[in-house]
Amino acid sequence: MVCIAEINNNINKKSIGMVKEVKYNNKKHFYCEVCKLIYKDRIWAEKCEKWCKHNSTCNLEITKYSIKLVR
Ligand SMILES: [Zn+2]
Repeated sequence: MVCIAEINNNINKKSIGMVKEVKYNNKKHFYCEVCKLIYKDRIWAEKCEKWCKHNSTCNLEITKYSIKLVR
């Protein structure tokens, strides 16, 4: 699993529910703005984004639910 989290600039932002929607295989998915991983469920994208903004590592317990990276 590749993770390209760049959290340093976002570490002080505590925004919640800022996940982006993205169309993938004609279905609506959600992605974490920080590490660009796509999730089927908004809840995981939110968890990922929250984690990414406050930690310098990716949480495998979250990223294992991701589908792929946004190009
Ligand atoms: Zn993330």
